[in-house]
Amino acid sequence: MRKLSILGATGSIGVSTLDVVARHPERFEVVALSGHRQIRKLAGQCLSCAPRYAVVADDAAAGELRALLAGRVGTEVLHGIEALEFIASLPEVDTVMAAIVGAAGLRPTLASARSGKRILLANKEALVMAGGVFMHEVHAHGATLLPIDSEHNAVFQCMPVKGRAGVRRILLTASGGPFRSSPLDALDHVTPEQACAHPNWDMGRKISVDSATMMNKGLEVIEAHWLFDTPAESIDVVIHPQSIVHSMVEYVDGSVLAQMGNPDMRTPIAHALDWPHRIDSGVSALDLAAAADLVFERPDFARFPCLALAFEALRAAGGAPTVLNAANEVAVSAFLERRLGFRAIADVIAATLETLPDQPARTLDEVFAADAAARAVAQRIVEART
Ligand code: NDP
Ligand code: MG
Repeated sequence: MRKLSILGATGSIGVSTLDVVARHPERFEVVALSGHRQIRKLAGQCLSCAPRYAVVADDAAAGELRALLAGRVGTEVLHGIEALEFIASLPEVDTVMAAIVGAAGLRPTLASARSGKRILLANKEALVMAGGVFMHEVHAHGATLLPIDSEHNAVFQCMPVKGRAGVRRILLTASGGPFRSSPLDALDHVTPEQACAHPNWDMGRKISVDSATMMNKGLEVIEAHWLFDTPAESIDVVIHPQSIVHSMVEYVDGSVLAQMGNPDMRTPIAHALDWPHRIDSGVSALDLAAAADLVFERPDFARFPCLALAFEALRAAGGAPTVLNAANEVAVSAFLERRLGFRAIADVIAATLETLPDQPARTLDEVFAADAAARAVAQRIVEART
């Protein structure tokens, strides 16, 4: 029986995880859940899984959750970052789903690495922000890192069982998001609602905006670099609007292995939850005849400057990914709050990268310092534009 902590249980990935887990009560036990602001939703999850611990943002949210659970379930309610680190490293837990969005997920995900857990990594921002430090902790403490991001999970499935012998390239597919073919000047007037209406995937708001700018693919290129120890030159992006081929691995003999399926995150979640065993995920079978045409195109870097910025940040081989990630988080929040235009997201990130020196962040303190400096600069740039 696998014993789970689910960080970010109230989010899109968290809910899909609980859906898969509920299909296999004999295989999984939920020991801890975390949410942040959606207390009623978390209360509902606690009532159905009866975890030992639940973690929320602050004291007020904890009080609210305790009141909702009182007399109904014996879950202990905790709050704050130390509590997240605590449930990420509990001795009785063997598997941690890291599905908090953004840089906020770094500390708890690192705590799970340091306690040698099996980590199901959805929180790509943690890896982009602190790739070197994070991978060092994973290796030093014998943690197992299993990718949840659909592309990386696909690559993981297509890679050789051991080593990288014979691998030539990783091909990450991208849907191109909702604005793949809209007129360029229409992008000036995009609203958060339009940006969050992804054609194939139903996701949280931040990653939906990242998909619309293609920064999501940029973050994924950096994520693939760290997960598969592969240089930027050997990672290519292919536009594939149907999101049926989730990614591919090309070998030196010309073979290209692809992983396919319907676009539903329960497939990679189920794959990682019980890897190397296969379990039912609730996802319907792929009907290739119904999918009909599978289209592939080269990405348009002029339309999607965020993708180019991410490749440049990775090639710079210093601390630029930390700055890129922080500036992106600031710009995306400003866009979601209607304080910044859609196309200005890339401008803010580019200007932040130009303003700050590219210093490698070798320790966690250096990572947090670079992240804070980039947030301050990006915030100033956003304010100067409004
Ligand atoms: P959501 O916004 O749907 O969920 C985010 C989760 O994190 C929620 O549980 C939220 O709590 C919690 N949270 C938000 N802010 C904080 C904070 N400051 N401290 C602690 N917890 C916080 O996001 P997604 O589920 O879409 O994405 C989660 C991660 O998975 C992201 O890193 C994303 O890039 C990655 N991912 C997502 C995919 C998808 O299909 N959704 C696909 C591939 C990767 P609450 O809602 O209660 O406030
Ligand atoms: Mg993805």
